[in-house]
Amino acid sequence: MPINAPAATMKALRKMRPARGAQLESVPVPSPGPSAVLVRVRAASICGTALPIYDWDPWSAARLRPPLTCGPACCGHGAAGGSAVSSVAPGDFVSAEMHLNCGVCRPCRMGQPHVCQRLKIIGIDLDGCFAEFVLIPETNVWKVDPSIPEHYAAILDPLGNAVHTVLSGPIAGHTVLITGAGPIGLMAIAVSRACGASTIFVTEVNPHRRALASRMGADLPLDPADPGVLAQVLEATGGAGADVLLEMSGNPFAIRQGFSMLRPGGRASLLGIPSQPVELNLVDSIIFKGATVLGIYGRRMYETWVQMTELLKARRLPLEPLFHERFPLEDFEQAFALLHAGQAGKVLFYPGGVPR
Ligand code: NAD
Repeated sequence: MPINAPAATMKALRKMRPARGAQLESVPVPSPGPSAVLVRVRAASICGTALPIYDWDPWSAARLRPPLTCGPACCGHGAAGGSAVSSVAPGDFVSAEMHLNCGVCRPCRMGQPHVCQRLKIIGIDLDGCFAEFVLIPETNVWKVDPSIPEHYAAILDPLGNAVHTVLSGPIAGHTVLITGAGPIGLMAIAVSRACGASTIFVTEVNPHRRALASRMGADLPLDPADPGVLAQVLEATGGAGADVLLEMSGNPFAIRQGFSMLRPGGRASLLGIPSQPVELNLVDSIIFKGATVLGIYGRRMYETWVQMTELLKARRLPLEPLFHERFPLEDFEQAFALLHAGQAGKVLFYPGGVPR
C-alpha cells in the first residue's frame, strides 16, 4: 500500500490525565510501521467500555495509562500503509478487530487468539479511534462488504460481542433469556432471532431500554424488580426455565436472577463485566442444575467476523432501532451526557463531520 501522507495533525479525543473526562486535542497523525494501516475514521461507536473510561472508574484507573486517545470501535477508509501491507488499498472501506493478539502464546498457538495471554486493545492499551485517523495492524483490518451500511460498519466490534455470545452454544429452537438490554443485549435480541431462537425474554431496569428491547424483537421485556418475573418465565417455558441465559449486564443481581431462571441442563454465556467479585450460590445455580457456563471475551478471530458479515449480508439483523444520535468529536460532552442519562442506544462520533 503506497504511503499517501494525509495532513500532519489531527483532532483526537484524549484522556490526558487519570481523572474523569477527556479533552479534544490536536496531535500528530500517526505514521504506520511496515505492517500497519492508517485508517481515516468515518464513524466511531461509543461502546460499553468508553463510559467507565470517561468516568475513570476503578477498572480504568488500574488499566489505562494516559495520555491516550479513546475509542474502541469504528469504520473508515484506508489512507496509508506500511511497506509490507499488501491486502488493503487506499480508499478501501474497512472496520477492525480492536483486540491485538500476540500469535505466539499457548492459547494463540492452540487456535484461541481471543483469549491471548498478552492481549492488547486499541482504545485501551493503544491509541484508539475517537480521532480523524487510527493505526491498525494489517492483520486486524476487516474489509467491509459493500452491502453493509456505514453506521452498521461502525459497530461491528460490539456486534461481534453479541454474535460470539449467542453462537457460543446451540440457539435454534431454544428459549433465550437476555439479562441487560444495553446496546450489546439489544443486538443479541436480533442475533438470537436471526439464528432461530423461539421465545426471547429480556430483563432490563431502564424502561427506555425495555421499550427498545420490544422494538428489537424481544417477546417478553421484563422489569427485574417485578416480583413476578421468575413466575412469568417459568409459565412461558412449561415450568422449566429458559434454555439459554445470555448475561449482558455485569450486574450481580441480574446474574443471580438470570441463573434462577435458567432451566436444568441449560447454557449460560456470560459477557457482562461486574465491577466487583460476585457472590453466587454455585450449588443451586450451576452444580445441581448441570448448567454449562461459558465466559465470553471479545470475538472469535475471525470466525465471529465471518458469521456477522454473513448475517448482515443476508439482511437478517434489523438493527435500526438501536441507533441514536450522531455527533462531531467537538460535542463529546453532549454525547457522554446522553449516555449517562440512559436514554440512548448506540451513539456515533463522526470525526470528519456528521453526514446530513
Ligand atoms: P451497558 O452498560 O450499556 O448495558 C448494561 C445494561 O444492563 C444496561 O442497560 C443496564 O440498565 C442493565 N442492567 C443493570 N442492572 C440490571 C439488572 N439488575 N437486570 C437487568 N439489567 C440490568 O453495556 P453494553 O455496552 O451493552 O455491554 C454489556 C456488558 O458487556 C457490560 O457489562 C460490558 O462491560 C460488557 N462487555 C464485555 C465484553 C467482553 O468481551 N466480555 C465486551 C464488551 C462489553
